[in-house]
Amino acid sequence: MKHIVVTGAAGFLGSHLVKSLIHQGHRVTGMDNLSTGVLRNLEEVMAHPRFEFHQADVTHPDSLEIFAEQQVHEIYHLASPASPKFYQADSIGTIWVNTQGTYHMLELARTKGARFLYSSTSEAYGDPEIHPQPESYRGNVNTWGPRACYDEAKRLGEVFCYEYYMKQRVSVRVARIFNTYSSGLRNDDGRVISNFVTQALTGQDITVYGDGSQTRSFCYVDDNIRGLQALMAEDKAEGEIINIGNPTEYTILEVAYLVKKLTGSGSNIVFMPLPEDDPKVRRPVIDKARELLNWEPVIALEEGLRRTIQHYRTMLLQEQVPVQE
Ligand code: NAD
Ligand code: UDP
Repeated sequence: MKHIVVTGAAGFLGSHLVKSLIHQGHRVTGMDNLSTGVLRNLEEVMAHPRFEFHQADVTHPDSLEIFAEQQVHEIYHLASPASPKFYQADSIGTIWVNTQGTYHMLELARTKGARFLYSSTSEAYGDPEIHPQPESYRGNVNTWGPRACYDEAKRLGEVFCYEYYMKQRVSVRVARIFNTYSSGLRNDDGRVISNFVTQALTGQDITVYGDGSQTRSFCYVDDNIRGLQALMAEDKAEGEIINIGNPTEYTILEVAYLVKKLTGSGSNIVFMPLPEDDPKVRRPVIDKARELLNWEPVIALEEGLRRTIQHYRTMLLQEQVPVQE
């Protein structure tokens, strides 16, 4: 049994990861300041004897004092808002958690001799000029815009990992995560899948930003969590940056029509202004993950959306929100 620390444990990916690690028989300490995460995500494991939750801000070094007398084998550093709506609302907090927060968690990894996984992002590629994006692409990122707090902070987070790997021999690995979804996304987080599914089910207009020709590649959460765990487990992945995402690409307008079809919704599709610096294309090259981790996603968007729609429908009905049948 390993003792595994997960930051951002009450968030979308963190809570899925915690549940998976607990089911595999590990002891897990989850840390979260509940800025975008909610305890409801952890309900299923909260009382589990192998799970401990600490409400803490990982940018404060005091938050790590709880580990003074404990062995730690692995650290997944997932804490950081991920939705543009939330990271732009707390831009300075986003910079801190990915830089100072990453530094503190790397220090913990160094003192404990623990493996360390950092959740970076496809946003490290910015608005890419190379398509699809391999890990070797250095990116086209704007320092002077509303996405910079997230994109550039993640890039600096990667630099911290590099330095701790090279100078301190911490066993780091970096996941560049591409758009991931499932019913676990908050209804109000503003990301495209949660918006479209909620809008379609409640009969509101489906809001496509721009003309909908921009693309994204969507990975279902189960595939992502399997990928993160493979990245942590694989010795050959030490010191590597690896894309974790689904390489099947859709335009946002295609996603809107697909959600409308799968929900049987009568909602209208409407067009709204494209946010500043919104990347035009995004699709991962996952050859490195296939080769080093023997990993690739298996859940196609249509199947993942069916599951997501089913869960959202149940959730909305429980909240007594009228839902289109
Ligand atoms: P999320 O917002 O649902 O979860 C992030 C969690 O981190 C939240 O529970 C939040 O309360 C917590 N947190 C934020 N600042 C903190 C701090 N200072 N101290 C402690 N906890 C803090 O986001 P998510 O979708 O679960 O993303 C998890 C990680 O994966 C993030 O690092 C994100 O950048 C990365 N990522 C996610 C996606 C995606 O599509 N979901 C894509 C790329 C990268
Ligand atoms: N988007 C949209 N309508 C929405 C929410 C998002 O058209 O209601 C678009 C957004 O402009 C972007 C894409 O969908 O082009 C993905 O947005 P999201 O915020 O989910 O993730 P990110 O931009 O970080 O990839």
